[in-house]
Amino acid sequence: MKTIGLVGGMSWESSIEYYRMINEAVRAQLGALHSAKSIMYSVDFAEMEALQHQGEWNEAAAVMIGAAQSLERAGADFFILCSNTMHKVADEVQKHVRIPLLHIADATAREIKGQQLKTIGLLGTRFTMEDDFYSGRLMGKHGLQVLIPSAEERGVVHRVIYDELCAGQVKPSSREQYVRVMDHLVENGAEGIVLGCTEIGLLVGAKDSRVPLFDTTKIHAVAAVEFALRR
Ligand code: GLU
Repeated sequence: MKTIGLVGGMSWESSIEYYRMINEAVRAQLGALHSAKSIMYSVDFAEMEALQHQGEWNEAAAVMIGAAQSLERAGADFFILCSNTMHKVADEVQKHVRIPLLHIADATAREIKGQQLKTIGLLGTRFTMEDDFYSGRLMGKHGLQVLIPSAEERGVVHRVIYDELCAGQVKPSSREQYVRVMDHLVENGAEGIVLGCTEIGLLVGAKDSRVPLFDTTKIHAVAAVEFALRR
């Protein structure tokens, strides 16, 4: 079994889920007492959030590089960034470490294509929904069509992530807002919805949606285990 390196803390509310899901997937594969070999480097999310909103992406990349290099030195065989947003700097991070990065959008695209879907709605932070690094990869590398919510709805989705979910608050009123946003995406042609932020699975689940949901936390965790157990 390979040792999984996790860059976590973005936020820790979702890193806990990664840790649980990764260990559950190893148990499902190997049996009762088996668990994942893993190392987590958990950052202070307040520092990352400030760098993101100030547009200091070089600085944010430097923090990710430092974390990934620590994981490499500690013996990780490969690593994951436990945040969709921080994949904005994934290529830069990969240049500075020898161990491979398992990209969250690639794992997610594989799941979507496995269900024969072509057009998906994307929820996430503003950075994930609006910048090219995420939807551009889903479209350019994987041939998917990506729909995003309206500007006003993107504001709501973004605010709930930072003000509530990353702060450990799960509010029914926000769930209702997300359900409306997802309904609009479906009305516009989305055949599935990508929960492209690792905390969104804490707020909505299959019962809240008319189309399949792609929870990137779960997909990424399971993909990491599959890679760790591959011979
Ligand atoms: N966990 C979130 C994501 O998957 C947002 C937190 C962050 O900005 O890193 O994008």
